[in-house]
Amino acid sequence: MPRVRRRAANRESWFGHPNVPRLHAESAQEVARKPARGAWRASGRCAATRLLAAGLLAAGCGGPPPPNLLLITVDTLRRNHLGCYGHSRSTSPAIDAFAASAVRFDRAYATAPWTKPSIASIFTGLHPGGHGASGVGRVLSEKVTTLAEILSDQGWATAGFVTHRMLRPENGFHQGFDVYHDGLAEGDDSVTSPRLTSQAIAMLQRLVKSEEPFFLFVHYFDPHYTYNAHADIDFAPKQVGRLEGTESIHLLRRLAGNITSNEVAFLRDLYDEEVALTDRGIGQLLAELTRLGRAENTLVVLTADHGEEFFERGWIGHTRSLYEELVQVPLIIRDPTVNRPGAVVTQPVSLVSITPTVLDLLGVDASRYEFHGASLTPLLGGTEPAEALPAGPVLTEVEYRPARHEMPVKLTVKQAVIVGSRKLIRDGLTGNIELFDLAADPGEVDNLAATDPGGVAQLLRPLRSRARPDPPRRVPGRSAQAFR
Ligand SMILES: [Zn+2]
Repeated sequence: MPRVRRRAANRESWFGHPNVPRLHAESAQEVARKPARGAWRASGRCAATRLLAAGLLAAGCGGPPPPNLLLITVDTLRRNHLGCYGHSRSTSPAIDAFAASAVRFDRAYATAPWTKPSIASIFTGLHPGGHGASGVGRVLSEKVTTLAEILSDQGWATAGFVTHRMLRPENGFHQGFDVYHDGLAEGDDSVTSPRLTSQAIAMLQRLVKSEEPFFLFVHYFDPHYTYNAHADIDFAPKQVGRLEGTESIHLLRRLAGNITSNEVAFLRDLYDEEVALTDRGIGQLLAELTRLGRAENTLVVLTADHGEEFFERGWIGHTRSLYEELVQVPLIIRDPTVNRPGAVVTQPVSLVSITPTVLDLLGVDASRYEFHGASLTPLLGGTEPAEALPAGPVLTEVEYRPARHEMPVKLTVKQAVIVGSRKLIRDGLTGNIELFDLAADPGEVDNLAATDPGGVAQLLRPLRSRARPDPPRRVPGRSAQAFR
């Protein structure tokens, strides 16, 4: 049997915080964590055998190699600034084309409105209380098993490229990667997409020369503030009002309260230029995958860690709330075995389901791991009605205690639950509760909490049960699901 390193997933409460060990800081830009173990080869079995068991391949040993995985995350990519999610401006021709060849999730939610806990949930299939990277100063726990660790142990070559300082090895995100590059994690002002794309393409070319399947993780950063203008993208004028497009987030926040609508539109124009620049890089990366002849044997997942707010509620940036502009994100999955190009899934889903979904699609037996999300495979294939998916309510949370230099950023402790078109947000500091009907009120301005106590009670139930979770329940034929 393939050797699988088992680490018990932390089972503390959703809102509890485990005692997370700190990792030693590492300054190297490239961390050679360990050689690919090749457990698959060491076992003397071919990958096709494993995939046959999963029904993915019709051939025996000597047949097609196991699928690769390309996971692309874009920092701060607000869902409705992409063409395939309804944006009127052509910010994302490459992502739109990719979506037309894939399955697009119309209502995907990050587990948190900022980078560290959200990416950690993508990596582990756990909510922040489970993976440990829930707050400023916390790290991705070594106690939990990451997607990269699982795939590495199963014989996948693993490589990661990150451009956000929070994803550096000292925060634990390198776990499971044979090679992990954080040399482009340069800071808010930096423009990194072109260099990141070049490095990722070079790695892709190296990976395809190996007989091993690969997992390549690429994290783009540029839509994140500061919102830079780009010379060959013409969405924003040179200057509007008091702004020239070089202002720091701290300066922009000082304008809250008297910023003009034209200035806000200018910032969104600049943001669109950053999205377009990122889209160009993603297009080049996907084109290279096709040029190398691997598109037909590579599972591609594209998503974002969170969105961005542009003074809709008097603030700019992220971390401070759980409204849709911050937690609803793009999610597009192209699985070569699923032939539903352009399909759209409308059921709300969580990014906590990415790891169990990917393992399911790659044919990896994940039964020994515990996840807080269920595999989305039934929705991808369109073979089961949405209500058959035991995904349960979608949960998202934030506990953000700002560093001193970030002031006047406020301490924020909130939890939210989404069931169908209903969404409840609870403020953990004040106890305030908001209830919204997203179908009728997508802007979340009409709080129904006072007039619908029954609805409040219904949506509070999953939050309360989350505080004292039941033992995990197995879902036959799918990945284990810890909570519903
Ligand atoms: Zn982020």
